[in-house]
Amino acid sequence: MSSKGILYLVATPIGNLEDITLRAIRILKEVDFIAAEDTRQTIKLLNHFEIKKSLISYHEHNKKEKGKYLISQLDSGKNVALVSDAGTPAISDPGEDLVKLCVKDDIKVTVIPGPVAAITGLVASGLSAGRFVFEGFLPMNKKIRKERLELLKNEARTIIFYEAPHKLMHTLKNLYEVFGNRKVVLARELTKKFEEIIRCDLDEAIEKYKEQLPKGEFVLLVEGISEEDRMYDQKKYWDKISLKEHLDIYLREGLDKKSAMKRVAEDRGVSKREVYKGLL
Ligand code: SAM
Repeated sequence: MSSKGILYLVATPIGNLEDITLRAIRILKEVDFIAAEDTRQTIKLLNHFEIKKSLISYHEHNKKEKGKYLISQLDSGKNVALVSDAGTPAISDPGEDLVKLCVKDDIKVTVIPGPVAAITGLVASGLSAGRFVFEGFLPMNKKIRKERLELLKNEARTIIFYEAPHKLMHTLKNLYEVFGNRKVVLARELTKKFEEIIRCDLDEAIEKYKEQLPKGEFVLLVEGISEEDRMYDQKKYWDKISLKEHLDIYLREGLDKKSAMKRVAEDRGVSKREVYKGLL
């Protein structure tokens, strides 16, 4: 049997302190110590549940050295609980890196599941919840951000983002610029006193926050592109390229000339004869 310790990823509330599981409380009491992203936040939680345990900070800016230290503790048989600022560790926080280190070092990782802001927002949104993509925080670099959004432009699944209030307006504008007008849901202050689910279009959300500064924490959910809009966008693209360029796309994919011409005709909504004549 391994004499190494276990890393427990313990989900904590995203607002409402009642959203903690009995198992989470027990594990927080039982482990040797707790690694916390924001020790001040975690102390409040521990005080509320009368848990006395030593804390060690583990966050974005010290994760390298603290990661090594935590692995050495786990290697020596200590059991460690990791908690993030709120919600499930490793979702848009440095917990992910610690899990990777544990996997590499053959240290057992186990999860005490609980709230995730993205999923909480998704199920309340009224948008399709069956298929979705989680993007977390968009990169701040202008070029990389634009590229990321361009890649998501034709995404049919619901797209979920995290955003800080002071950057919300900027992100809404970027989404509008690349996606055009779409349904958006702003899930604000989930599980808290001022919880609000705002369902509107991107242009309306921009208008709203021109008049009032966004406050609190937000999950942004954007409706995926509809099949109709995707076809329309695709059609606009086909209209921009020549018949020859269009045909070449399918020939490069390995289709024979006859099948490629058939696909071109279907894409453009014209007859095969027209494609044939146009290519002559
Ligand atoms: N690990 C967390 C989770 O499981 O959701 C997410 C951590 S991430 C650093 C923090 C972001 O989550 C916030 O900027 C916000 O976008 C979102 N968030 C966290 N709590 C929220 C809440 N109560 N309501 C809305 N969004 C929330």
